[in-house]
Amino acid sequence: PKAKTSLNAFISTEEPVRVAIPPPHPNPNPAIVPVPPGLSEWVSVVSSMAVKDNIVTSKHRTTCGSRFLENHLSPFEAHVVEQARRFSVPISGKTNLDEFGMGSHSTNSYFGSVTNINLNPHRAPARSAGGSSGGSAVAVASGQCTVALGTDTGGSVRLPAAYTKTIGFKPSYGLLSRWGVIPYANSLDTVGILASKPSQILNTLSILRPHGKHNLVSSSAKTNPTRDPTLLSKQFWDRAMRQLRDQLFSQQYAALLPGEINFSKLRIGVPMEYNIAELEPAVRSAWQRALEVLQNNGATVVPISLPSTKHALSAYYIIAPAEAASNLSKYDGVRYGSRSSSADGAGDVLYSMTRGEGFGEEVKRRILLGSYTLSSEAIDNYFIKAQKIRRLVQRDFDRVFGVQNPLRPPQQFDLSDIDDSVQLRDKLGPAEVDFIVCPTAPTLPPSLSDVLQQTPVDTYMNDVFTVPASLAGLPSISIPITGNKQVAGIQIIGQYSDDARVITMASRLM
Ligand code: GLN
Repeated sequence: PKAKTSLNAFISTEEPVRVAIPPPHPNPNPAIVPVPPGLSEWVSVVSSMAVKDNIVTSKHRTTCGSRFLENHLSPFEAHVVEQARRFSVPISGKTNLDEFGMGSHSTNSYFGSVTNINLNPHRAPARSAGGSSGGSAVAVASGQCTVALGTDTGGSVRLPAAYTKTIGFKPSYGLLSRWGVIPYANSLDTVGILASKPSQILNTLSILRPHGKHNLVSSSAKTNPTRDPTLLSKQFWDRAMRQLRDQLFSQQYAALLPGEINFSKLRIGVPMEYNIAELEPAVRSAWQRALEVLQNNGATVVPISLPSTKHALSAYYIIAPAEAASNLSKYDGVRYGSRSSSADGAGDVLYSMTRGEGFGEEVKRRILLGSYTLSSEAIDNYFIKAQKIRRLVQRDFDRVFGVQNPLRPPQQFDLSDIDDSVQLRDKLGPAEVDFIVCPTAPTLPPSLSDVLQQTPVDTYMNDVFTVPASLAGLPSISIPITGNKQVAGIQIIGQYSDDARVITMASRLM
């Protein structure tokens, strides 16, 4: 398949692909305008939106970056897309991704690798745009859309944001409807938002809101958001947005506009385990810079310990492939996906040829991994252990946040068969932090040629800082911070359903 542009960000578009910055909006602050009464109590102007190609749309194909779905046209639209249309947001096109969201550099697509825009193509080697929502990140970074939807299962919105100097927000698990999002790993999948300004993230979130009045219309329609069984109730949405709404209405958007910064009541946790030897100096100095800004503006910065972090990556790479193997079993050329033209009969040959041709290398690797860890021989040692690690990761976070996790009262888990070294003690006592601030990725974007040399495990290691928040379902945002003249992605992680404060923090730190 041919690349559409040198960046290869889009798989299909409604208009010809352009690499241009849209003209300035006549409204001096186009990102935030009061909404006409009755439409929504939220703010919403987003001039164009690109959509990752694993979120279904009825006007474009939805390929998931896979040969299997090369010609797949969905009969319906995802809830989030329907919401965008309801608010008259033009959809610029469908963006390139790692096949089914599996990857960290957007190089695992049947439609070719995405190239990062942020570097001079004549001077520097082509760099990774991060993955798997690399197309969405490049579409934003190159000005081809105002915001882009991605999906974040283990970092796929935050990592591309970090590599392209954009902002990537992963909401609390269950906050946005996954109806119409082709699943990779259901217990981790979230719809995320990429943009250049925190206010655009907020506007988009308000547009995508699954519980607004405007949604009553769709309650009997195909895109009823509650068809996502993990969608949180309206109560949770209100809880997640409460603080922001207060700010929007009582302080005239102050929190989201540049100006006064006041961090004096905040406690920021710095996880010691994230300060690994492999951290690139530029990333460390951006991290330091973010902490200095916070401290200089009155925040209390405290070291915290998240000891299960070192096991989070292994747990993630057991849970995600296991769920993926299960999800992808439906692509057999009979029920779903294109059928191999050389397979003429039913049964094993048809399945194996179809699946052999339809899936790329990485997807096959995940199917094998997942099928193995779910097998009767291995499930206890892998899948069940990984679920327990996941609980430990969640517990680590719950212990350091000052706000209690609304889903989990102080926890009681039977973790007796987990190794002692993993049984964690409070190293530092209750930290009661508001947010955790840490890097999004250990390095700046590697060159695409280096990425091709990496082993799959090397690539998995890149997700070490993003998967913990995914396993715990926490809201997290990656923002570009300059330290020592280079820009690195820094992550702000909040307690479950503290989404609004996480975005507000991002707006104040930028
Ligand atoms: N890189 C991770 C993976 O390959 C995360 C991908 C994602 O969040 N979709 O699984």
